[in-house]
Amino acid sequence: MLRAPRGTNDILPPESHKWACLELLLRRLSKIYSFEEIRTPIFEYTELFSRTVGESTDIVRKEMYTFRDKGGRELTLRPEGTAPVARAFLERGLDRGALPKKLFYLGPMFRYEKPQAGRYREFVQYGVEILGSPSAYSDVEVILLAVRIAEELGLMGTTLYINTIGCPKCRRVHREDFVKHISGRVGEFCPDCLERLDRNPLRILDCKNDACRRATADVPLIRDYLCDDCREHWVTLQDSLRSLGLEYTVDPTLVRGFDYYTKTVFELKWPPLGAQDAIIGGGRYDGLIEELGGKPCPGMGFAVGVERLLLAAEKGDKPLAPDVSIDCFVLFPDTGDKRVTEAGFGLLNDLRCSGLSSDFDPLRRSMKAQMKHADRLKAKYVAIIGEEEIEQGFITIRSMEHGWQKQVPAGSVLDFMKEAVSGGTD
Ligand code: AMP
Repeated sequence: MLRAPRGTNDILPPESHKWACLELLLRRLSKIYSFEEIRTPIFEYTELFSRTVGESTDIVRKEMYTFRDKGGRELTLRPEGTAPVARAFLERGLDRGALPKKLFYLGPMFRYEKPQAGRYREFVQYGVEILGSPSAYSDVEVILLAVRIAEELGLMGTTLYINTIGCPKCRRVHREDFVKHISGRVGEFCPDCLERLDRNPLRILDCKNDACRRATADVPLIRDYLCDDCREHWVTLQDSLRSLGLEYTVDPTLVRGFDYYTKTVFELKWPPLGAQDAIIGGGRYDGLIEELGGKPCPGMGFAVGVERLLLAAEKGDKPLAPDVSIDCFVLFPDTGDKRVTEAGFGLLNDLRCSGLSSDFDPLRRSMKAQMKHADRLKAKYVAIIGEEEIEQGFITIRSMEHGWQKQVPAGSVLDFMKEAVSGGTD
C-alpha cells in the first residue's frame, strides 16, 4: 500500500470540521484587527529564503525542500511566510501604495524536520505582517492579536516572552564583545554552538543544551548595547504593554531563528503543550525589504502553526465545537413507484435550494438502513416519503433530536422545514 510521505497529515472529517472552524476564527480576527489576505506561491526561488531567512539558519542549511525544475531553476517549497509576503509586497508595488499595509496569510509551509507531536514536514501557518510602520505601536498591535487568538481558544496561562535584538548598528558592537566572551570559554560549548560562533553567534543563546545554557548565563546582553532609536522603541513597547495590563516576561535569550529580525522579537508559549510549547512567534524585520532590493521599509509580524493551535485548543477551556450535523435527510426507499422517487428528489433539491443542508441514500436501501444512515449523518430531521405519503399528499417529518413525528401537507413542507431548522417548530 502506498503511504503519505513522512511528516505529512491527511486531515479527515470530523477533524477537518475543526480546521474549518479554526480557519474561520482566524479570518474573523484578521478582519477585526483590519488585516487583508495575501496569497503567495507555494514555491519560490531558493535565493529568496537563503538571502532573508539566512544561510546560517537551520531552515536554510538543513530543512528546505529544494529542487530544480525542468528549466533548471532552483526552487524551494516555502518554509515560512514572511519572505514571500515581503517579496510580493515589493514586486507588486504595494510599497508605493498607502502605508502601512496590513496583510495576513494562511497556508502550508514545508520544512524537513524530525516529525513529532506538533512538528511536521508539511504544516499550516497563519501569519500577519504590518509593512511600512516603524512604530512600536505596531508591535503592540501584533502582540495583542497573538494574545487574542490564545484567549479565543481558551488557552489560560499563556506566557508572553519578549526581547529586543537591536538593529545591525547596535548588534555590531555587541557582537564583538559577545564573541570575545564566548571565545574565552570555548570548552564549555557544544560543537553546534562553536559553529554558530562563526556564522551567527546570537543563536548560541537559542541552544537547548544545558551546559551551553549555563555557560551563557553571564554573556553580554544586547539590551545593554542598544542605540538611542532601538532603546526608545523598546521602552515604548514595554510602556504600552504595561498600560494595557498585558503581562510579559523579558527573556534576554530569546533571539529567534531567522536573520531578518531586528528590534522586537516575541513568543507566546503555552506550557500544557510540552516540548513544542511555542504556539506563536514573531518579531520586527526592518531590514528585510531593503535586503530584497527595495527602499528601506520596516515590518513587523508573527506566525502561528495551525496544527499546534488545534492541539492546544483540544486541551484549552474553549474546545472548538464545529456543527457536523445536516438539517434534513430525505428518506425515500425504492418502492418501485416512480412518484416516490420524483417527490423525494424534488424535496431534496428544494431543501438544498433553500439553503438547508440535506442528503439522501443513493443506494435506496430499506427504511431501517436509511434511518441508520440519517443517524450517522447526524441529521436533525428526517423527511419520509413512501407510497402512503404520495397517495395522501403529505410528508412525514421526524425530529431526530426530540423524537416527535408529524405529517405535514406536501405543499407546505418546505416552509415547515425552514421554520423547524431556524428553531421555530420544536
Ligand atoms: P517559526 O516560523 O519557526 O517562527 O514558527 C512559528 C510557529 O509555526 C511555531 O510557533 C509553531 O506553532 C509553528 N511551526 C513551526 N515549525 C513547525 C513544524 N515543523 N510543524 C508544525 N508547526 C510548526
